[in-house]
Amino acid sequence: MKPIKNNPSPLPDPPITVWQTTSFGGSPTVYTRPLARLIEQLQHLPGVGPKTAQRLALHILKRPEDEVKALAMAIVEAKLQVGFCSVCFHLSAEPVCEICRAPNRDSSTICVVADSRDVIALEKTREYRGKYHVLGGLISPIDGIGPDQLHIHQLQRRVSQQKIEEVILAISPSVEGETTTLYVGHLLKPFTRVTRIAFGLPMGGDLEYADEVTLARALEGRRDLE
Ligand SMILES: [Zn+2]
Repeated sequence: MKPIKNNPSPLPDPPITVWQTTSFGGSPTVYTRPLARLIEQLQHLPGVGPKTAQRLALHILKRPEDEVKALAMAIVEAKLQVGFCSVCFHLSAEPVCEICRAPNRDSSTICVVADSRDVIALEKTREYRGKYHVLGGLISPIDGIGPDQLHIHQLQRRVSQQKIEEVILAISPSVEGETTTLYVGHLLKPFTRVTRIAFGLPMGGDLEYADEVTLARALEGRRDLE
């Protein structure tokens, strides 16, 4: 059999029934084409290498058809239906997210985070009752990400046009995180009080990896940005 190279093209299948993809431990592994395609797609997920992808794919094939269809539909529907809140840029299936719409939350406090994952981590602490603003990343000149690529102007508009008493910067203390914290802090200081959460977290530690108690303490121990 002629070995066939791993081809990611979604074009119609050439007339072959097996193809060779990633080899494990030096020995080539041959999958039938739809299985090879599934394994290849699973490998695009974070933290999933060739072996895990193979295990997941074989597991999926063992499940009942209904269950597999429900999984596939859930993936497609989430992708099609979930967008960003027009106010805070948190993930939302509605134009304005549940947190922004909640009448019992404190609208005078905005917690600024890099990513929606951080909102989820902070919500799990059940300590914070204000609103959020998701920047969509961190300033990183080396990666070509400047303030204009993030939702910083929208934040400035929110803070300058609404009655905001405090902005809490909850950004991890990496190099990019520090740059972003200082930039956003100086931008907002003319309008309101700006604090940053106290990191008992390891340097460069992501918010999402902090346990809930640590994160709640970090929020409680916030200080005014110098
Ligand atoms: Zn929102």
